[in-house]
Amino acid sequence: MLFIDLSDSIYISAIYTSVVIRMAEKTKSKGKKLEEKLLFKPKSIGLEKKDFFKESTEFCEGYKEFLKSKTEREVVDYTIPLLKRNGYKEYVSGKKYPAGSKLFFNNRGKNLIMVTIGKKDISEGVRIGASHIDSPRLDFKPVPLFEDTEMAFMKTHYYGGIKKYQWSTVPLSLHGVVTLKSGKNIKVVIGESAEDPVFCVTDLLPHLARDQMKKTASEVITGEQLNILVGSWPFNDDEVSQKVKLNIANILFERYGITEADFLSAELCAVPAFAPVDVGLDRSMIGAYGQDDSVCAYCNIMAEIDCKDPEYTTVTVLADKEETGSDGPTGLNSMFLIDFIEDMATTYGAELRKVLAKSLCISCDVNSAYDPAFGENYERTNCSYLNHGPSISKYGGGGGKYSTNDASAEMMAFIRKILDENGIMWQIGELGRVDNGGGGTVAMYISQHNIDTVDFGVPVLSMHTPFEVTAKADVLMLYLAMKAFYEYPKTFKK
Ligand code: MN
Ligand code: MN
Repeated sequence: MLFIDLSDSIYISAIYTSVVIRMAEKTKSKGKKLEEKLLFKPKSIGLEKKDFFKESTEFCEGYKEFLKSKTEREVVDYTIPLLKRNGYKEYVSGKKYPAGSKLFFNNRGKNLIMVTIGKKDISEGVRIGASHIDSPRLDFKPVPLFEDTEMAFMKTHYYGGIKKYQWSTVPLSLHGVVTLKSGKNIKVVIGESAEDPVFCVTDLLPHLARDQMKKTASEVITGEQLNILVGSWPFNDDEVSQKVKLNIANILFERYGITEADFLSAELCAVPAFAPVDVGLDRSMIGAYGQDDSVCAYCNIMAEIDCKDPEYTTVTVLADKEETGSDGPTGLNSMFLIDFIEDMATTYGAELRKVLAKSLCISCDVNSAYDPAFGENYERTNCSYLNHGPSISKYGGGGGKYSTNDASAEMMAFIRKILDENGIMWQIGELGRVDNGGGGTVAMYISQHNIDTVDFGVPVLSMHTPFEVTAKADVLMLYLAMKAFYEYPKTFKK
């Protein structure tokens, strides 16, 4: 067996490689030079930026902490103190603020708008970064608690697009609020700390699953089977019929002071109980619940905080209800964002429609990352890859480009220019093969107000599952991209 002394061979090969590279530069063929000049070649961050591994690892420690907030309300509660520590003040309607002022507006505890006042007049338009802070999950029904065969369960109605079978036999935590008739809000988080219990949806043992295994994946676990196991021990009183249910109701009353009717005025949900973790022996990736779209939200928030003295006023918005179609007063199909911009415009004597017409928006949402296990579902020249940077989507929607903001060539050119001039690595990304399904973002709800908008975001493996995976380098690159967008001084000419 031949023994190779690795240390020597690495040294020799390093010298050899550098000599070869220098020779190759001189002797490039005409075709090679043309290839480099003319053809679009997506690149991996790992090969282009060696220091990026360390930097992105450091950046993502803060991101992993952020991911522990698992609902829109928790993200808002986490972010406001962070903003205050960084000099943000609560926005006061009608007040004029000098350039550089940092402000935030809290809509119903479920949306945040963050602003850095620009040097230019607001009539020149604003630069909007939009992401969403709701994620797919299991919402409690209004009357959730029931007992069957001496076990207590909570009935749910799933929120957003999920593969229902993935949510059984996964440890779940309970999050949300219960609002009493008095108006008092009671916050609930159970299952996130080490001493807490967790919950689960059960599944049938394979030994008895002959019929179940013949069903299609959408029916293996049905919506009505997504019941969360919450108890099995009775309240000891012979006069009571549903003893396990009563015992659970009593525990809830003793801990939170709530009764069964209070579930009617609650927003409670179950989400995966895992903490965010590093993935891979090289620790280059992050695995966690809710990265769609907390990854973009975190990058937007940090870019907004770190953006100093922008030319154009920045508007960073965290939306709710994206996963169910952006409806409701806290979804971007409502007017809360436009009303906020109008409030600022009026204060500075500008006309809203003129401000909107001159504004730009990056709709920051995740994209699907190419997964070789399911390669046939992607079109390989137009999809996104892990570690190739955030992905620009000219359009989303479904077959025939329905239900999407299809960004203009001019807007695409402007975004490319911003990214390239700031050394940001990016890639292009269709969601997947034509006619293979589809997906939407908030982009069309912003562009409908005559705002040039483009979709942009981090590629994700296993999107909408309990454990989504992103690459750390893509996360840091998105932050840098959004900071560059906010600080970019040049005007988009329409
Ligand atoms: Mn989603
Ligand atoms: Mn999303």
